Amino acid sequence: MDFDLTDEQRLLRDTVRDFANQEVKPVAEELDRTKAFPYELVKKMGELGLMGIPFPEEYGGGDAGTLAYALAVEELTRIDSSVAITMAAHTSLGTMPINMFGTDEQKADWLPQLCSGQKLAAFGLTEPEAGSDAGNTQTRASLDGGEWVINGSKQFITNSGTDISGCVSITAVTGQDNGNKEISNLIVPNGTPGYEPGEPYRKMGWNASDTRPLTFEDCRVPEGNLLGPRGDGYKQFLAILDGGRIGVAAMGVGLAQGALDEAIAYSKERQAFGQPIGKFQAIQNKIADLSADIAAARLLVYRAAELKDAGESFTLTAAQAKLITGRLAVRATEEAVQIHGGYGYIEEYPVCRFYRDAKILTIGEGTDEVQQMVIARQLGC
Ligand SMILES: Cc1cc2nc3c(=O)[nH]c(=O)nc-3n(C[C@H](O)[C@H](O)[C@H](O)COP(=O)(O)OP(=O)(O)OC[C@H]3O[C@@H](n4cnc5c(N)ncnc54)[C@H](O)[C@@H]3O)c2cc1C
Repeated sequence: MDFDLTDEQRLLRDTVRDFANQEVKPVAEELDRTKAFPYELVKKMGELGLMGIPFPEEYGGGDAGTLAYALAVEELTRIDSSVAITMAAHTSLGTMPINMFGTDEQKADWLPQLCSGQKLAAFGLTEPEAGSDAGNTQTRASLDGGEWVINGSKQFITNSGTDISGCVSITAVTGQDNGNKEISNLIVPNGTPGYEPGEPYRKMGWNASDTRPLTFEDCRVPEGNLLGPRGDGYKQFLAILDGGRIGVAAMGVGLAQGALDEAIAYSKERQAFGQPIGKFQAIQNKIADLSADIAAARLLVYRAAELKDAGESFTLTAAQAKLITGRLAVRATEEAVQIHGGYGYIEEYPVCRFYRDAKILTIGEGTDEVQQMVIARQLGC
């Protein structure tokens, strides 16, 4: 097994690391405090080719694979989770369904503007009655005069209501199939009459990321906006979530690493009892444990990405990676706050934001309990 990154992957990682340090870090605290969407940074990420890393070159993507994408997500999250989730949700949740299941025409219509970052894509699966139980979709779409008429609502949808949001791919019930719900995917462009993103939520973290409820009231889109075969929607979204977990797991590693970076730097500066606190074994133990756990978790995330890139089954590894990295991020950010003492509770210190940003990683894209179900099923239980 090859543990080395290729030259291209290394270059991408270093480019994103520089971008995160030079462009994101100086504004991250203010964006979080003012809950301002990072339009300028998205534009720059588009220019750097970060908004379409795994997509085909013919549509303006980087054709660089899942591992390269995971490296970029990790480096962004090391500095700021809001910027990272904007890019990650756009890529592996919003744009990926169009890349994987779209017709040539749908790809030609959407991928160039999405890969360039001119427009953002969102993924609308969760509903008030359909979260972990995602198959309980209540949103309905019926054909009328060559158009789908959509009625229903979605909630917690990332990237759905910014000035540059281009479209959302949603699940909707389009009929009955042997007594079961027939669920299909539809592309709904922003600005379509009857489709309204609501006011952004007030969240614990990810404050500069855009998250909204959506309503559909007699919203009409052309019949050709069906994404993939009719009735395949649920299966398609499960496949998207499988891949998306690798991105969220990369966020967990990046956030844990960012928290550790801050904790190490602070432990060298802060004096107590006449010496830097990093000289105390109690602090060293926390740092050593985190560094070991992060190194192991990172390998698991990269392994899941490699399996996906090799076309092998990655469901088990991605769910394992998502499960352990979410928990690790929560623990690492908590320990980093602890190492900062009272200053860790003050917003000027990045670990304060990191701590608030961590918790969603055990909830979004399938809760820990859902990951445990996926893993147990994969193991034959
Ligand atoms: C900031 C943010 C951004 C998001 N972005 C998106 C997005 O872009 N697109 C999108 O579609 N969704 C998005 N989500 C939704 C997210 O994926 C869901 O919140 C998540 O899947 C959990 O669903 P739920 O909130 O309905 O919780 P529920 O499903 O109601 O779960 C509540 C609790 O019950 C547990 N539970 C449920 N079923 C079981 C079971 N069978 N066994 C054991 N325990 C169980 C859960 O693990 C959890 O602890 C986002 C959420 C947030 C907060």
